[in-house]
Amino acid sequence: MICSACSSEMNPTARFCSNCGRAVVGPPVIPVYPRLMRPRSGRAIAGVCAGFAQRYGWDVVLVRILLCVSVLFGCGAPILAYLVAWIVMPNEPYFFPVQPMAPPVAQPAAPPNNQPTV
Ligand SMILES: [Zn+2]
Repeated sequence: MICSACSSEMNPTARFCSNCGRAVVGPPVIPVYPRLMRPRSGRAIAGVCAGFAQRYGWDVVLVRILLCVSVLFGCGAPILAYLVAWIVMPNEPYFFPVQPMAPPVAQPAAPPNNQPTV
């Protein structure tokens, strides 16, 4: 994302430009989590509920409440499902791999200087 005021590169989730302080106009960009994984922050136990909530845009509190209710009425099967999800879901990487930048567009060669030298 490029700042509209100073044209500096900005974090896509930033609400203010770190260079000039200009507020980002428009709705904040919600990061898209490409796959199911356990986030490193906001965990209660292992981050399984937080991972599902983050991936599908659900409220993490609601997911946790639904898990607790299903544990109460599910005779242990939800606990087993939680443990399987804990094992299967990878941890969120510390840094998402950066998309390789597009190669620069080839600039046409500078026109030859036809001005006669003095
Ligand atoms: Zn700026």
